[in-house]
Amino acid sequence: MDPLNLVTDPALRPVGETVLAGRRLGRDEGIVLATTTDLVGVGALANHVRERFHGDRTYYNINRHLNPTNVCAATCALCAFAVPLSRRGEGWEWSVEEAVERAARDVDETVSELHIVGGLNPSMTTAYYERLFRELKARFPWIQLKAMTMVELDFFARVDRIPLEEVIARLRDAGLDSCPGGGAEIFAERARRKICNHKTDGNRWLEVARTVHGMGIRTNCTMLYGHVETPEERVDHLLALRGLQDETGGFQCFIPLAFHPANTAFSHLPPTGGRLDLQTVALARLLLDTIPHVKAYWIMVGEKIAQVAQHFGADDLDGTVVDERITRAAGGTAGRGMPRSRLEALIREAGRTPVLRDTLYRPLGEEDPGDGATVPASPTSAISRGASTDRRQ
Ligand code: SF4
Repeated sequence: MDPLNLVTDPALRPVGETVLAGRRLGRDEGIVLATTTDLVGVGALANHVRERFHGDRTYYNINRHLNPTNVCAATCALCAFAVPLSRRGEGWEWSVEEAVERAARDVDETVSELHIVGGLNPSMTTAYYERLFRELKARFPWIQLKAMTMVELDFFARVDRIPLEEVIARLRDAGLDSCPGGGAEIFAERARRKICNHKTDGNRWLEVARTVHGMGIRTNCTMLYGHVETPEERVDHLLALRGLQDETGGFQCFIPLAFHPANTAFSHLPPTGGRLDLQTVALARLLLDTIPHVKAYWIMVGEKIAQVAQHFGADDLDGTVVDERITRAAGGTAGRGMPRSRLEALIREAGRTPVLRDTLYRPLGEEDPGDGATVPASPTSAISRGASTDRRQ
């Protein structure tokens, strides 16, 4: 069906024509997409682009989370996870050995990725993670490590008083395969001052990502929405990510993160509704025309929205997870983990074809359905690592 037939808002129609012509959308068009009440129209346009990129495929992985510490030097108002340095006895600070043992409880040969992030703990910086990565790679040689946000890398460089490039090179040599996209929050200074004052600012977040990409490591990128930000600030955030992607090609997936207010300084705010969740996925798919993947992170938005989001622009559901602590601390109720069979069912029930992937979005195990869809070209020559399809390398 022609997606324009589903557009009812007259202001959305010219935006839809631009999308169908395959042309890039600008800021004003982004604001129309972010503010229209024509949710079905926005969804139809985003679905058109999603199917142009990925056909019926929806990606997922078999992963585990590891948070070696929740003790943090920052005190972000948005956070329900961290324990401040002054009360560090109430938190956890795992030794390398403990962290490896925790990982060993949940990891077997079916698990392809460990997602590792933690608080900004001045006692656990470059040397700690360098050792942890080496030990994890020695114990689980097939595992890919998706670890360290741009905020953590920036923090390590400052605390260790070494250049950022040295932090990245040491962690890469110890086994870092890719980086998650967290810590971007919302780039607008006005909102950032309220939700995460004193944290790495938006410009620096982008600068660190530029450096990581320039050293051959792919990352994800995120946006935290549903707190004090405006629709215009959401659009500007996405356009800043698109600008960096134009330069480096290093972002592989965008993840819209729904704000969970429970146990934070914003507990008076309501959680996000399905409308904002779906409209944000669609907005991202339409504006981020060179970032290959858009994720509906089921831990954040719940199973039902994750299922519907596959028709609003999302082509990835993240993974089986098991021990997720950050969203759970903020009242997330989506659960601790999901069996592979349930994830696949969520995808099939939505009329999509599940594709098991690794941390770099290479299909694993089964044949790629190969339905002729086109993933947007993005990698520059700087992104050359990980060309092999053998997940044990
Ligand atoms: S959001 Fe991150 S940096 Fe901020 S307090 Fe929580 S763990 Fe620390």
